[in-house]
Amino acid sequence: MTDSIDREALAAARESARPRYEEFSSSGLKLDITRGKPCTAQLDLAEDLLVALKPGDHSTEAEGDLRNYGGAAKGVLALREMFSPLVDVPADQLVARDNSSLSLMHFCVASSFFRALPGGEKPWAGEEVVFLAPAPGYDRHFSVCEELGVQLRTVAMTPEGPDMDEVERLVAEDARIKGIWCVPKYSNPTGITFSDEVVRRLAEMPTAAPDFRIYWDNAYAIHHVRAQHDRLASILDACAKAGNEDRAFVFASTSKVTFAGGGVSFFGSSQANVAWFLARDSMRSIGPDKVNQLRHVRFFGDTAGVEAHMEKHREILEPKFDAVATALDADLTPLGIASWSDPNGGYFVSLDVVPGTARRIVQLAKDAGVALTPAGATFPGGDDPEDRNIRIAPSYPTTEELDTALQVLTTCVILAAGEALLDA
Ligand code: PMP
Repeated sequence: MTDSIDREALAAARESARPRYEEFSSSGLKLDITRGKPCTAQLDLAEDLLVALKPGDHSTEAEGDLRNYGGAAKGVLALREMFSPLVDVPADQLVARDNSSLSLMHFCVASSFFRALPGGEKPWAGEEVVFLAPAPGYDRHFSVCEELGVQLRTVAMTPEGPDMDEVERLVAEDARIKGIWCVPKYSNPTGITFSDEVVRRLAEMPTAAPDFRIYWDNAYAIHHVRAQHDRLASILDACAKAGNEDRAFVFASTSKVTFAGGGVSFFGSSQANVAWFLARDSMRSIGPDKVNQLRHVRFFGDTAGVEAHMEKHREILEPKFDAVATALDADLTPLGIASWSDPNGGYFVSLDVVPGTARRIVQLAKDAGVALTPAGATFPGGDDPEDRNIRIAPSYPTTEELDTALQVLTTCVILAAGEALLDA
Protein backbone atom coordinates (compact mmCIF):
# COMPACT_ATOMS: atom_id res chain seq x y z
CA MET A 1 0.00 0.00 0.00
CA THR A 2 2.61 2.58 1.13
CA ASP A 3 4.73 1.84 -1.98
CA SER A 4 1.98 3.14 -4.19
CA ILE A 5 1.34 6.36 -2.27
CA ASP A 6 1.19 9.43 -4.46
CA ARG A 7 2.60 12.15 -2.15
CA GLU A 8 1.59 15.05 -4.38
CA ALA A 9 -1.95 13.81 -4.64
CA LEU A 10 -2.00 13.26 -0.88
CA ALA A 11 -0.83 16.84 -0.24
CA ALA A 12 -3.60 18.16 -2.47
CA ALA A 13 -6.20 15.84 -0.91
CA ARG A 14 -5.15 17.01 2.52
CA GLU A 15 -5.67 20.65 1.58
CA SER A 16 -9.26 19.96 0.61
CA ALA A 17 -9.80 17.61 3.58
CA ARG A 18 -8.94 20.30 6.15
CA PRO A 19 -11.95 22.60 5.58
CA ARG A 20 -14.19 19.54 5.16
CA TYR A 21 -13.09 18.28 8.56
CA GLU A 22 -13.74 21.69 10.15
CA GLU A 23 -17.21 21.69 8.65
CA PHE A 24 -18.01 18.20 9.95
CA SER A 25 -16.64 19.08 13.39
CA SER A 26 -18.87 22.11 13.73
CA SER A 27 -22.03 20.43 12.45
CA GLY A 28 -22.81 18.53 15.67
CA LEU A 29 -22.72 15.01 14.21
CA LYS A 30 -23.51 12.06 16.46
CA LEU A 31 -22.93 8.91 14.40
CA ASP A 32 -21.86 5.44 15.43
CA ILE A 33 -20.36 2.71 13.24
CA THR A 34 -18.79 0.72 16.07
CA ARG A 35 -20.65 -2.52 16.62
CA GLY A 36 -22.15 -5.00 14.20
CA LYS A 37 -25.80 -4.67 15.16
CA PRO A 38 -28.73 -5.36 12.82
CA CYS A 39 -30.70 -2.22 11.91
CA THR A 40 -34.38 -1.72 12.65
CA ALA A 41 -35.45 -2.93 9.20
CA GLN A 42 -33.60 -6.19 9.87
CA LEU A 43 -35.23 -6.59 13.26
CA ASP A 44 -38.62 -5.97 11.64
CA LEU A 45 -38.06 -9.08 9.48
CA ALA A 46 -38.49 -11.18 12.62
CA GLU A 47 -41.48 -9.28 14.01
CA ASP A 48 -43.78 -12.30 13.48
CA LEU A 49 -41.64 -14.20 15.97
CA LEU A 50 -43.65 -12.29 18.56
CA VAL A 51 -46.85 -14.03 17.43
CA ALA A 52 -45.40 -17.31 16.18
CA LEU A 53 -46.97 -19.22 19.06
CA LYS A 54 -50.69 -19.12 19.75
CA PRO A 55 -52.24 -20.31 23.02
CA GLY A 56 -52.28 -24.11 22.95
CA ASP A 57 -49.24 -24.41 20.69
CA HIS A 58 -46.65 -25.62 23.15
CA SER A 59 -45.89 -29.25 22.29
CA THR A 60 -43.86 -31.29 19.82
CA GLU A 61 -44.12 -34.90 18.83
CA ALA A 62 -40.59 -35.69 20.03
CA GLU A 63 -40.78 -33.98 23.40
CA GLY A 64 -44.46 -33.47 24.28
CA ASP A 65 -45.31 -30.46 26.47
CA LEU A 66 -42.45 -27.94 26.35
CA ARG A 67 -43.75 -25.64 29.07
CA ASN A 68 -42.34 -27.64 31.95
CA TYR A 69 -38.91 -28.68 33.15
CA GLY A 70 -37.21 -31.60 31.49
CA GLY A 71 -37.78 -33.63 28.35
CA ALA A 72 -35.26 -32.14 25.94
CA ALA A 73 -31.75 -32.25 27.39
CA LYS A 74 -30.17 -31.18 24.09
CA GLY A 75 -32.95 -28.71 23.28
CA VAL A 76 -35.93 -29.07 20.96
CA LEU A 77 -35.18 -31.67 18.27
CA ALA A 78 -37.09 -29.91 15.48
CA LEU A 79 -34.92 -26.81 16.00
CA ARG A 80 -31.71 -28.84 16.05
CA GLU A 81 -32.77 -30.60 12.85
CA MET A 82 -33.60 -27.29 11.21
CA PHE A 83 -30.19 -25.75 11.97
CA SER A 84 -28.11 -28.92 11.60
CA PRO A 85 -27.38 -28.46 7.85
CA LEU A 86 -26.76 -24.74 8.33
CA VAL A 87 -24.01 -25.21 10.92
CA ASP A 88 -22.75 -28.52 9.53
CA VAL A 89 -23.29 -30.53 12.71
CA PRO A 90 -25.44 -33.72 12.84
CA ALA A 91 -28.62 -32.97 14.83
CA ASP A 92 -27.72 -35.64 17.35
CA GLN A 93 -24.46 -33.81 18.11
CA LEU A 94 -26.05 -30.38 18.24
CA VAL A 95 -27.29 -28.80 21.48
CA ALA A 96 -29.71 -25.85 21.39
CA ARG A 97 -29.58 -23.34 24.21
CA ASP A 98 -30.86 -19.87 25.08
CA ASN A 99 -29.52 -16.75 23.47
CA SER A 100 -25.82 -15.96 23.40
CA SER A 101 -23.26 -18.29 21.96
CA LEU A 102 -20.66 -16.12 23.67
CA SER A 103 -21.99 -17.28 27.03
CA LEU A 104 -21.51 -20.90 25.86
CA MET A 105 -17.90 -20.16 24.89
CA HIS A 106 -17.26 -18.48 28.25
CA PHE A 107 -18.88 -21.46 29.97
CA CYS A 108 -16.75 -24.00 28.07
CA VAL A 109 -13.50 -22.21 28.82
CA ALA A 110 -14.46 -21.73 32.48
CA SER A 111 -15.64 -25.34 32.91
CA SER A 112 -12.37 -26.66 31.49
CA PHE A 113 -10.65 -25.27 34.60
CA PHE A 114 -12.78 -27.46 36.87
CA ARG A 115 -13.53 -30.63 34.90
CA ALA A 116 -11.10 -32.50 32.65
CA LEU A 117 -12.06 -32.45 28.99
CA PRO A 118 -12.32 -35.71 27.06
CA GLY A 119 -8.73 -36.62 26.26
CA GLY A 120 -7.36 -34.42 29.05
CA GLU A 121 -5.65 -35.81 32.13
CA LYS A 122 -6.87 -33.15 34.51
CA PRO A 123 -8.74 -29.86 34.71
CA TRP A 124 -6.81 -26.69 33.87
CA ALA A 125 -7.03 -25.09 37.35
CA GLY A 126 -3.59 -24.18 38.65
CA GLU A 127 -2.03 -24.53 35.20
CA GLU A 128 -0.79 -21.82 32.90
CA VAL A 129 -3.22 -21.86 29.97
CA VAL A 130 -2.71 -20.17 26.61
CA PHE A 131 -5.11 -19.73 23.66
CA LEU A 132 -3.99 -18.75 20.18
CA ALA A 133 -5.63 -15.57 18.98
CA PRO A 134 -5.57 -15.09 15.21
CA ALA A 135 -5.61 -11.30 14.80
CA PRO A 136 -7.27 -9.17 13.73
CA GLY A 137 -10.06 -11.09 15.45
CA TYR A 138 -13.16 -10.73 17.63
CA ASP A 139 -12.48 -8.60 20.69
CA ARG A 140 -14.91 -10.47 22.95
CA HIS A 141 -13.05 -13.75 22.44
CA PHE A 142 -10.02 -12.00 23.80
CA SER A 143 -12.01 -10.55 26.74
CA VAL A 144 -13.28 -14.03 27.70
CA CYS A 145 -9.66 -15.15 28.05
CA GLU A 146 -8.64 -12.02 29.92
CA GLU A 147 -11.59 -12.49 32.28
CA LEU A 148 -10.78 -16.15 32.98
CA GLY A 149 -7.02 -15.83 33.28
CA VAL A 150 -6.15 -17.45 29.95
CA GLN A 151 -3.15 -15.91 28.21
CA LEU A 152 -3.39 -14.99 24.56
CA ARG A 153 -0.73 -15.58 21.96
CA THR A 154 -1.31 -13.63 18.76
CA VAL A 155 -0.94 -15.36 15.40
CA ALA A 156 -1.37 -13.62 12.06
CA MET A 157 -4.52 -13.90 9.96
CA THR A 158 -4.07 -14.50 6.25
CA PRO A 159 -6.71 -14.37 3.49
CA GLU A 160 -7.10 -18.17 3.95
CA GLY A 161 -7.36 -18.23 7.76
CA PRO A 162 -4.77 -18.25 10.56
CA ASP A 163 -1.09 -18.54 9.58
CA MET A 164 -0.99 -22.34 9.78
CA ASP A 165 2.79 -22.72 9.69
CA GLU A 166 2.94 -20.66 12.86
CA VAL A 167 -0.08 -22.39 14.47
CA GLU A 168 1.30 -25.88 13.78
CA ARG A 169 4.72 -24.94 15.14
CA LEU A 170 3.32 -23.44 18.36
CA VAL A 171 0.78 -26.14 19.24
CA ALA A 172 3.26 -28.94 18.53
CA GLU A 173 5.83 -27.69 20.99
CA ASP A 174 3.86 -26.01 23.79
CA ALA A 175 1.47 -28.06 25.94
CA ARG A 176 0.24 -24.90 27.65
CA ILE A 177 -1.58 -24.00 24.42
CA LYS A 178 -5.05 -25.43 24.96
CA GLY A 179 -7.10 -23.68 22.34
CA ILE A 180 -7.48 -21.44 19.32
CA TRP A 181 -10.20 -18.93 18.54
CA CYS A 182 -11.65 -19.19 15.04
CA VAL A 183 -14.43 -17.28 13.28
CA PRO A 184 -14.15 -19.52 10.24
CA LYS A 185 -16.73 -18.01 7.92
CA TYR A 186 -17.01 -14.32 7.05
CA SER A 187 -14.55 -13.78 9.86
CA ASN A 188 -14.91 -10.90 12.29
CA PRO A 189 -13.44 -8.48 11.20
CA THR A 190 -11.61 -9.46 7.98
CA GLY A 191 -14.59 -11.20 6.32
CA ILE A 192 -12.52 -14.09 5.01
CA THR A 193 -13.60 -17.75 5.05
CA PHE A 194 -11.10 -20.42 6.03
CA SER A 195 -9.85 -22.45 3.07
CA ASP A 196 -10.31 -26.24 2.92
CA GLU A 197 -6.58 -26.57 3.41
CA VAL A 198 -6.63 -24.53 6.65
CA VAL A 199 -9.59 -26.54 7.97
CA ARG A 200 -7.75 -29.78 7.20
CA ARG A 201 -4.50 -28.62 8.80
CA LEU A 202 -6.29 -27.45 11.96
CA ALA A 203 -7.95 -30.86 12.23
CA GLU A 204 -4.79 -32.87 11.53
CA MET A 205 -2.03 -30.96 13.30
CA PRO A 206 -0.30 -32.72 16.18
CA THR A 207 -0.80 -30.84 19.45
CA ALA A 208 1.33 -31.15 22.58
CA ALA A 209 -1.80 -30.68 24.72
CA PRO A 210 -4.03 -33.79 24.56
CA ASP A 211 -7.07 -31.67 25.41
CA PHE A 212 -6.49 -28.94 22.81
CA ARG A 213 -9.75 -27.42 21.49
CA ILE A 214 -10.64 -25.40 18.42
CA TYR A 215 -13.27 -22.82 19.40
CA TRP A 216 -15.09 -22.79 16.05
CA ASP A 217 -17.31 -19.74 16.43
CA ASN A 218 -19.42 -19.98 13.30
CA ALA A 219 -21.33 -16.82 14.20
CA TYR A 220 -21.75 -15.77 10.55
CA ALA A 221 -22.48 -19.18 9.01
CA ILE A 222 -25.60 -17.94 7.19
CA HIS A 223 -25.04 -14.18 7.19
CA HIS A 224 -24.40 -13.45 3.51
CA VAL A 225 -23.92 -9.99 2.06
CA ARG A 226 -23.39 -10.89 -1.59
CA ALA A 227 -25.37 -13.23 -3.83
CA GLN A 228 -22.13 -15.19 -4.12
CA HIS A 229 -21.80 -17.22 -0.90
CA ASP A 230 -18.57 -18.58 0.59
CA ARG A 231 -18.37 -22.30 1.35
CA LEU A 232 -16.76 -23.63 4.54
CA ALA A 233 -15.54 -27.21 5.00
CA SER A 234 -16.97 -29.15 7.96
CA ILE A 235 -14.59 -28.99 10.91
CA LEU A 236 -16.26 -31.92 12.68
CA ASP A 237 -15.86 -34.15 9.61
CA ALA A 238 -12.23 -33.05 9.17
CA CYS A 239 -11.44 -33.75 12.84
CA ALA A 240 -13.16 -37.16 12.75
CA LYS A 241 -11.29 -38.06 9.56
CA ALA A 242 -7.99 -37.07 11.15
CA GLY A 243 -8.67 -39.22 14.21
CA ASN A 244 -9.08 -36.09 16.37
CA GLU A 245 -12.82 -36.42 16.93
CA ASP A 246 -12.90 -34.38 20.12
CA ARG A 247 -10.87 -31.45 18.88
CA ALA A 248 -13.54 -28.93 17.84
CA PHE A 249 -16.27 -27.08 19.74
CA VAL A 250 -18.71 -25.49 17.28
CA PHE A 251 -20.79 -22.45 18.28
CA ALA A 252 -23.50 -20.47 16.48
CA SER A 253 -26.57 -18.41 17.27
CA THR A 254 -29.53 -16.50 15.86
CA SER A 255 -28.49 -13.23 17.50
CA LYS A 256 -28.30 -11.51 14.10
CA VAL A 257 -31.02 -13.67 12.56
CA THR A 258 -33.99 -12.92 14.83
CA PHE A 259 -33.54 -10.95 18.08
CA ALA A 260 -30.20 -10.69 19.88
CA GLY A 261 -31.51 -11.28 23.40
CA GLY A 262 -34.52 -13.36 22.33
CA GLY A 263 -32.73 -15.83 20.11
CA VAL A 264 -31.27 -19.30 20.42
CA SER A 265 -27.68 -20.54 20.43
CA PHE A 266 -26.00 -23.80 19.48
CA PHE A 267 -23.14 -25.95 20.69
CA GLY A 268 -21.99 -28.81 18.43
CA SER A 269 -19.23 -31.35 18.86
CA SER A 270 -18.32 -35.03 19.17
CA GLN A 271 -20.56 -37.29 21.26
CA ALA A 272 -17.96 -37.29 24.06
CA ASN A 273 -17.74 -33.50 24.11
CA VAL A 274 -21.52 -33.15 23.99
CA ALA A 275 -21.77 -35.46 27.02
CA TRP A 276 -19.08 -33.37 28.79
CA PHE A 277 -20.95 -30.17 27.94
CA LEU A 278 -24.35 -31.49 29.08
CA ALA A 279 -22.94 -32.77 32.36
CA ARG A 280 -21.47 -29.34 33.18
CA ASP A 281 -24.47 -27.43 31.85
CA SER A 282 -26.97 -29.42 33.90
CA MET A 283 -25.29 -28.06 37.03
CA ARG A 284 -26.14 -24.48 36.19
CA SER A 285 -29.59 -24.80 34.64
CA ILE A 286 -32.37 -27.37 34.65
CA GLY A 287 -33.03 -26.59 31.02
CA PRO A 288 -33.27 -23.90 28.33
CA ASP A 289 -36.25 -21.88 27.13
CA LYS A 290 -37.86 -24.64 25.05
CA VAL A 291 -40.89 -22.47 24.34
CA ASN A 292 -38.66 -19.94 22.58
CA GLN A 293 -37.00 -22.76 20.69
CA LEU A 294 -40.44 -23.88 19.48
CA ARG A 295 -41.24 -20.27 18.59
CA HIS A 296 -38.21 -20.28 16.27
CA VAL A 297 -39.32 -23.60 14.73
CA ARG A 298 -42.78 -22.19 13.98
CA PHE A 299 -41.43 -18.87 12.70
CA PHE A 300 -39.00 -20.39 10.18
CA GLY A 301 -40.95 -23.54 9.26
CA ASP A 302 -37.89 -25.39 7.94
CA THR A 303 -34.25 -24.98 6.93
CA ALA A 304 -35.23 -23.36 3.64
CA GLY A 305 -37.30 -20.88 5.66
CA VAL A 306 -34.17 -19.84 7.58
CA GLU A 307 -32.30 -19.39 4.30
CA ALA A 308 -35.13 -17.33 2.80
CA HIS A 309 -35.12 -15.15 5.92
CA MET A 310 -31.35 -14.60 5.60
CA GLU A 311 -31.80 -13.59 1.96
CA LYS A 312 -34.01 -10.72 3.19
CA HIS A 313 -31.25 -9.68 5.60
CA ARG A 314 -28.81 -9.82 2.72
CA GLU A 315 -30.94 -7.49 0.60
CA ILE A 316 -30.84 -4.89 3.38
CA LEU A 317 -27.13 -5.30 4.06
CA GLU A 318 -25.73 -5.38 0.52
CA PRO A 319 -26.36 -1.69 -0.32
CA LYS A 320 -24.65 -0.68 2.93
CA PHE A 321 -21.55 -2.71 2.10
CA ASP A 322 -21.71 -1.21 -1.41
CA ALA A 323 -21.74 2.26 0.13
CA VAL A 324 -18.59 1.47 2.12
CA ALA A 325 -16.78 0.06 -0.91
CA THR A 326 -17.80 3.00 -3.09
CA ALA A 327 -16.78 5.68 -0.57
CA LEU A 328 -13.44 4.11 0.27
CA ASP A 329 -12.68 3.49 -3.36
CA ALA A 330 -13.57 7.01 -4.49
CA ASP A 331 -11.67 8.82 -1.72
CA LEU A 332 -8.73 6.54 -0.95
CA THR A 333 -7.85 4.39 -3.97
CA PRO A 334 -6.31 7.27 -5.96
CA LEU A 335 -4.05 8.07 -2.99
CA GLY A 336 -2.92 4.50 -2.25
CA ILE A 337 -3.10 5.12 1.51
CA ALA A 338 -5.39 2.26 2.57
CA SER A 339 -6.69 -1.19 1.71
CA TRP A 340 -9.89 -2.84 2.82
CA SER A 341 -12.00 -5.99 2.61
CA ASP A 342 -15.11 -6.44 0.48
CA PRO A 343 -16.51 -9.62 2.05
CA ASN A 344 -19.26 -11.91 0.78
CA GLY A 345 -20.81 -11.98 4.23
CA GLY A 346 -20.54 -11.16 7.91
CA TYR A 347 -20.95 -7.75 9.48
CA PHE A 348 -17.69 -5.91 8.97
CA VAL A 349 -15.32 -4.21 6.63
CA SER A 350 -11.73 -4.34 7.80
CA LEU A 351 -9.79 -1.21 6.86
CA ASP A 352 -6.00 -1.11 6.93
CA VAL A 353 -4.58 2.41 6.96
CA VAL A 354 -1.05 3.84 6.97
CA PRO A 355 0.80 2.10 9.85
CA GLY A 356 0.83 4.24 12.97
CA THR A 357 -2.33 6.19 12.11
CA ALA A 358 -5.31 4.04 13.20
CA ARG A 359 -5.54 5.54 16.70
CA ARG A 360 -5.20 9.04 15.35
CA ILE A 361 -7.99 8.43 12.81
CA VAL A 362 -10.36 7.08 15.48
CA GLN A 363 -9.62 10.15 17.65
CA LEU A 364 -10.12 12.59 14.78
CA ALA A 365 -13.41 10.89 13.86
CA LYS A 366 -14.56 10.98 17.48
CA ASP A 367 -13.79 14.70 17.72
CA ALA A 368 -15.92 15.19 14.61
CA GLY A 369 -18.83 13.22 16.11
CA VAL A 370 -18.33 9.78 14.52
CA ALA A 371 -17.72 6.82 16.84
CA LEU A 372 -15.50 4.09 15.38
CA THR A 373 -14.49 0.82 17.08
CA PRO A 374 -11.42 1.71 19.19
CA ALA A 375 -8.25 1.17 17.20
CA GLY A 376 -6.53 -1.99 18.39
CA ALA A 377 -9.78 -3.61 19.61
CA THR A 378 -9.31 -6.40 17.08
CA PHE A 379 -6.00 -7.42 18.70
CA PRO A 380 -5.33 -9.10 22.06
CA GLY A 381 -4.87 -6.51 24.82
CA GLY A 382 -6.32 -3.87 22.50
CA ASP A 383 -2.87 -3.45 21.03
CA ASP A 384 -2.45 -3.46 17.27
CA PRO A 385 1.34 -3.66 16.92
CA GLU A 386 1.23 -1.72 13.67
CA ASP A 387 -1.62 0.59 14.69
CA ARG A 388 -3.19 0.20 11.29
CA ASN A 389 -6.48 -1.79 11.51
CA ILE A 390 -9.93 -0.21 11.83
CA ARG A 391 -13.15 -2.23 11.93
CA ILE A 392 -16.13 -0.68 10.17
CA ALA A 393 -19.64 -1.91 11.00
CA PRO A 394 -22.05 -0.60 8.34
CA SER A 395 -25.25 -2.47 9.29
CA TYR A 396 -26.83 -0.29 11.97
CA PRO A 397 -26.90 3.31 10.65
CA THR A 398 -29.34 4.48 7.99
CA THR A 399 -27.89 4.87 4.48
CA GLU A 400 -27.71 8.67 4.93
CA GLU A 401 -25.96 8.37 8.29
CA LEU A 402 -23.57 5.81 6.86
CA ASP A 403 -22.71 8.04 3.89
CA THR A 404 -21.88 10.94 6.20
CA ALA A 405 -19.89 8.71 8.58
CA LEU A 406 -17.87 7.39 5.64
CA GLN A 407 -17.11 10.90 4.41
CA VAL A 408 -15.84 11.79 7.88
CA LEU A 409 -13.84 8.58 8.03
CA THR A 410 -12.07 9.03 4.69
CA THR A 411 -11.39 12.68 5.55
CA CYS A 412 -9.72 11.54 8.78
CA VAL A 413 -7.74 8.83 6.97
CA ILE A 414 -6.39 11.47 4.59
CA LEU A 415 -5.54 13.94 7.39
CA ALA A 416 -3.75 11.29 9.46
CA ALA A 417 -1.86 9.95 6.44
CA GLY A 418 -0.76 13.50 5.67
CA GLU A 419 0.53 13.99 9.23
CA ALA A 420 2.41 10.66 9.13
CA LEU A 421 3.82 10.82 5.63
CA LEU A 422 4.17 14.50 4.75
CA ASP A 423 4.88 16.16 8.10
CA ALA A 424 7.21 13.51 9.48
N1 PMP B 1 -19.10 -14.41 17.88
C1 PMP B 1 -18.82 -13.47 16.98
C2 PMP B 1 -17.70 -13.67 16.02
C3 PMP B 1 -19.56 -12.28 16.95
O1 PMP B 1 -19.26 -11.33 16.06
C4 PMP B 1 -20.62 -12.12 17.87
C5 PMP B 1 -21.48 -10.89 17.90
N2 PMP B 1 -20.93 -9.73 17.52
C6 PMP B 1 -20.85 -13.12 18.80
C7 PMP B 1 -20.09 -14.27 18.77
C8 PMP B 1 -21.90 -12.99 19.84
O2 PMP B 1 -22.87 -13.94 19.65
P1 PMP B 1 -24.04 -14.17 20.68
O3 PMP B 1 -24.97 -13.02 20.59
O4 PMP B 1 -24.63 -15.45 20.23
O5 PMP B 1 -23.44 -14.28 22.06
